[in-house]
Amino acid sequence: MTAKEKAAPDTENTYDLLILGAGPAGLAAAIYGCRANLRVLVFEQMLAGGEIASTDRLDNYPGFPEGIGGADFGQLLEQQARRFGAEIVSATVEEASLEGEVKKVITSRGSFYARAIIIATGTVPRLLGVPGEEKLRGRGISFCATCDGPFFRGKKIAVVGGGDAALQEALFLTRFTEQIFLIHRRDELRAVPYLQERVFEQPRIKILWDTIVKGFYGDNKIEKIALENVKSSQTSDLPVDGVFLYIGRAPNTGFFQGVEMDDRGYIITSEEMETSLPGVFAAGDVRRKFLRQVVTAASDGAIAAMMAVRYMG
Ligand code: NAP
Repeated sequence: MTAKEKAAPDTENTYDLLILGAGPAGLAAAIYGCRANLRVLVFEQMLAGGEIASTDRLDNYPGFPEGIGGADFGQLLEQQARRFGAEIVSATVEEASLEGEVKKVITSRGSFYARAIIIATGTVPRLLGVPGEEKLRGRGISFCATCDGPFFRGKKIAVVGGGDAALQEALFLTRFTEQIFLIHRRDELRAVPYLQERVFEQPRIKILWDTIVKGFYGDNKIEKIALENVKSSQTSDLPVDGVFLYIGRAPNTGFFQGVEMDDRGYIITSEEMETSLPGVFAAGDVRRKFLRQVVTAASDGAIAAMMAVRYMG
């Protein structure tokens, strides 16, 4: 009996393995799963490649000495998974029933079943939770410099955050404009030294240290940011045409029931990517782990797929 036959019901929507998310973790899992002769379906709600597809450049993935564009890398991953037979559909996962022997996923494209499932849904951008943020989202407030940077050619831009993402994307935005304010809440950056050095050397980026955002203002589009210096308590308004928020990310796990997570919502797994539920594995940024990088996501995906193969017997 094949793995598929053990998984009821026997419909064309029944697969051996369902993978939620087509980032590096999900697509690496698809490659390994297909090569082990599983019938694999991957769901993605945005672009194949996941978060990396909306990143300017991937500079630290082994094997690309000159780096590679994030979107190009995402396409290569997708092509490779499809070459081995993975089906990839664009759909939003609405509900997942993971506790029984047969896993069921309800999506915007219908219900799907399998005996094993890999959660590789990654993370979503965190919000500041200040006035005007929701209203001006997409009206000058963006979470993707690669997607929206070209709209701000010659304009005045702010980037909020002091981590790798904020610095990397602020550097990318210097292609479009000469006036970039990097707003950071402390007097020290969190990003790796290599990125810090590049930012310090870049005259187009001015760092506003010890500064927090109190609100975003504008009628139909952003016009100014209300700021406060946390050391002096001095408040000020910064007129801007656009602002990019890079204040970290949160796990995309809101709709999973019964899978053990940590207090921040990251899925807890073994080193073999097993979750607290049999037949349910997690891979990539969505799980509790030390290092969230493309290379570790791909590694997680490979392990998760091989564990799913072993689980199905
Ligand atoms: P991150 O490392 O968590 O940094 C978030 C930044 O936002 C921090 O500087 C933090 O300030 C600030 N922040 C958080 N909440 C804030 C708030 N409420 N108000 C104001 N500032 C706030 O997140 P990330 O930069 O998105 O990176 C996430 C992961 O992806 C990291 O592991 C990173 O290494 C990785 N990544 C790597 C690369 C690369 O290798 N080139 C590129 C992008 C991302 P504090 O510093 O004060 O906490």
